[in-house]
Formats: sequence, structure tokens, C-alpha cells
Amino acid sequence: MPNEVGEEFDLVVIGSGPGGYVCAIRAAQLGLRVACIDKRPSHGGTCLNIGCIPSKALLHASEVFTEVSHAGDMGIQLGKPKLDLPAMMTYKENGITGNTQGIDFLFKKNKVEALHGAAVIVAPGKVDVSLLDGGTRSLTTKNIVIATGSESTPLQGVEVDEKLVVSSTGALEFDAVPKHLLIVGAGIIGLELGSVWARLGAEVTVVEYLDRITPGVDEEVAKQFQRILQKQGFKFLLGKKVTEVKPLKASVKVTIEPAQSANESANKSDAEKETLSVDKVLVSIGRRPFTEGLGLESVGVQLDAAGRIETNGFKTNVDGIYAIGDVITGPMLAHKAEDEGVAVAEMLAGKPGHVNYDVIPGVIYTAPEVAWVGLNEEELNQQGVDYRIGKFPFMANGRAKVNNTTDGFVKILADAKTDRILGVHIVGPEAGNMIAEAAVAMEFGGSAEDLARTCHAHPTLTEAVKEAALAVEDRAIHM
Ligand SMILES: Cc1cc2nc3c(=O)[nH]c(=O)nc-3n(C[C@H](O)[C@H](O)[C@H](O)COP(=O)(O)OP(=O)(O)OC[C@H]3O[C@@H](n4cnc5c(N)ncnc54)[C@H](O)[C@@H]3O)c2cc1C
Repeated sequence: MPNEVGEEFDLVVIGSGPGGYVCAIRAAQLGLRVACIDKRPSHGGTCLNIGCIPSKALLHASEVFTEVSHAGDMGIQLGKPKLDLPAMMTYKENGITGNTQGIDFLFKKNKVEALHGAAVIVAPGKVDVSLLDGGTRSLTTKNIVIATGSESTPLQGVEVDEKLVVSSTGALEFDAVPKHLLIVGAGIIGLELGSVWARLGAEVTVVEYLDRITPGVDEEVAKQFQRILQKQGFKFLLGKKVTEVKPLKASVKVTIEPAQSANESANKSDAEKETLSVDKVLVSIGRRPFTEGLGLESVGVQLDAAGRIETNGFKTNVDGIYAIGDVITGPMLAHKAEDEGVAVAEMLAGKPGHVNYDVIPGVIYTAPEVAWVGLNEEELNQQGVDYRIGKFPFMANGRAKVNNTTDGFVKILADAKTDRILGVHIVGPEAGNMIAEAAVAMEFGGSAEDLARTCHAHPTLTEAVKEAALAVEDRAIHM
């Protein structure tokens, strides 16, 4: 009920990304009076507006563009496909609005009060909103959930103008295919966006500080993935760092040096430096939590050294203030944020909210895809766990063969004593969809034997998962 200070809610959620909007809907389903605020003109946060959804729209469209080029192999003569980039961008925009409008609908359906404006926490239980269309609202609430997400991490000394030097946001909006795109950072977002532009005709060079791509991904999978991307035309400069990015009129001059210079103490030898002239630079070195303008200092909410909101079971150090999603610790993934949103909503409604952080899948939506869940070999070795490996290549899978998508493999890591599945790692076609089976098996504490004894439809790519599970005991059939 409205009171003299403002309006009384059970829950005010700040940020309507996958963490915030899902939290708001679940809390409303459980009978709480909820408001959800976002300073963007459309709901859905990074994910729907400038992240998962637009990137997947362009990945899908560019993949179809590539596939059409190979349709002749299947007896379909289409001629050389012609790119209409503005139409592809409209397709992407339609995908965004289709999804963001879906959230407007869900908010209405669940009676979540949706506001567009910048929110400031003025005190525990009090949120002021500067509305986008003018004016302010003062909300009082029993609880606040902060779900303000993240932003691209800047590269020191490099200014992003979103034209010549771009973040992922600019790389989703190029008005022409760059002739040569240089990507700083061989992480997931950079490689996905690099794939889009490589498929559409760009030469793509990736500079990575480490001596490997996709840090955190099982090393064997990452190596295979790198080989596949190289076959697709990617050029990798590993163990290198970008030390200068100089935008010129219509190009960018980039200086690259070894990550660890042989002349670290002395002046760097010019022989170690190389310069490249490229059309565009994508800075993609990670994301950092976003809390600017929220008023956290004045209410005393604690951050950790990396700028994340410190939480214990989603509770901050201030009573009645919670935080979820990219703004707290853990993988910066939409589904992790969503699950946290559900968990905190259920906790606030007196239920036992829970997220199993051991079973959060990760996916790289390239072609082929890369997907994993659980621990990788490096992590198991670090922890001193005794494990067995079952591996099966798509080359030996009937469906992959007939589809001509034989690059990659499934790798299952199972406890040597108990056979419990500890991790599943896939590089190959449809890996992102196939990892769900492994996640379910792991959620139920399943063993490799459980997967191996589960009947899998033939002919499907999922048979490679079953065969990898059989291979844990050296009894794969088709190898
Ligand atoms: C290019 C790209 C591709 C990605 N692809 C994937 C993918 O395929 N799969 C995946 O799982 N993840 C992907 N991600 C990551 C994913 O987008 C994030 O993990 C996810 O959006 C985090 O959700 P969140 O709810 O924590 O925050 P966000 O989605 O970042 O939402 C936070 C919202 O809070 C709002 N906000 C901030 N401060 C205030 C304030 N003071 N007042 C009001 N509103 C405020 C912001 O406007 C924003 O809309 C991708 C990210 C990028 C950039």
C-alpha cells in the first residue's frame, strides 16, 4: 500500500537483466509485491540488449551464410550468397525487441511494477528512481535485490570510441564488414564476435596475453578449438600484449609486444615490437562488475577487491539488501544470474533457495560449439583427484558423419573409484544443447555408467556422449 514516504513494496529489484527480471517474476509468483527498475529503455539487461541475444542472432545468421555457401555439397545449387548487412542487423534488432517485449509481457502478467530509470539506494528499504521519461519516484520496500550486472573491462590507455576501437557493443553494430579485425583477448565473447565477422569475410587476428586461448576451458578442448578456428582463418598471436592502439582516419595502428619481454628491465627492443594496421579493434579482455551510481558507499554495502558486491547466501553486509548475477562472485553467465534470481526470490518468500555452483554449464556458441560442465583435467589434477577419461570423436558418430560436422570430441571425466561424473567437455556440433544431458546427470550425482546405460536415440549426436561414457571403461562400440 502507498504510504506518506512513497510506495511500499516487499521487494525492489534494481536491474532487469536475466538475474533481476527472473528474480522479480519468481518473487511475484510467490505473492510478493515487486518493482523492477532498469535505467535502459528496454528490459533484459546486457543479455537481451547488447549480449547473449544479439550476439547469438548474428552468430546464427552468419552461420547460415556460411552453410549456404556449402549447400552445393548437398546438391543444392544456390550460387554465391550475397550479404545484405543492414538487413542482417534488422534481423538482429527484431530478435532483441522480440525478447525484450516478452519481458514487458511477463512483468504485466505477473503484476511486477516495471520502471525505467536510474535507481539509487538512499537507505536500506528506500530507493529513489530518476525516471527516464522525467520525474522521480521514491519507493519504500522491505527488501532490495541489486542485479546491476557488469560492463566491459577497459584496456589501460586505450579509448573505446565504439567506431574504430570497439567493445562487444560496437562489434555488434558494424555498418560494414571490416577487412581486418583485431581482437584483444581470446576469451569467449571475442571469439564469438570474431567468428561472426570472419564468416562474413573479415580477416581476424586475435592477440592474447596468455599462451593459450579461452582460459578456464579444459586445455585439450581449447587446443582442438584453436586448431579448428585456425582452419576457419583465425590468426592467433599468443603470449603477446597490445601496448598501443592509435586510431587514424579510417584505420587503427596497433603495437604488439611479447607478454613477457626478454628485455623487461631494459628498454624494450624495437625488434620485439610489431605493428599492425587494421580497420577495427575489438577490446574484449573480460567484464567487470557494475555498481556505479547506486549509492552503495552511503549505505555501507561492502565490495571486494575486484569491485564485486560481497555476499553470503546473496545477503550483503546490510540487512535487507541482497545481490545476484554478474555483480557478485562466480561465472558471469546469464543462466547463473537467473538461478540466483530464483534462489533469492524463494528465500525471501520463506523457501529454501539454492544454486548448485558445481553444475553450471558454459558454452561458446561458435561453429563447432564448445561446452562444458563441472571440473576440467587441470582442476582435477590441482585438487589431486584420481579420475578416468572417456573420449569419443565426432568422426566416429554416424549423424556427425552424414552431416559433415565431424570436428571435435566428447570427453567425460569420472571419479576413478566411484565412477561419479566430475566433468564433461565437448567441442563439436550442438555442444551447447548436448551439455544439458551431462548437467542433469551430474545434478543427480550420476555416474559414467548411468550415462552409458541410458538409451540414446539413433542417429543423433548425443550418441557421442553415450560412447564417451562407455569409453570411461574402454568399451566404446564405434571406435
Ligand atoms: C556480447 C556478450 C555476449 C554474451 N553472451 C552470453 C551467452 O551467450 N550466454 C551467457 O550465459 N552469458 C552471456 N553473456 C553474459 C551475460 O550477458 C551476463 O552474464 C548477464 O547479462 C548477467 O545478468 P545480470 O542480470 O547480472 O546483469 P545485466 O544483464 O548486466 O543487467 C544489469 C542491468 O542493470 C541495469 N542497471 C545498472 N545500474 C542500474 C541502476 N543504478 N538503476 C537501474 N538500473 C541499473 C543495467 O542497465 C542493466 O540493464 C554475454 C555478454 C556479452 C557482453
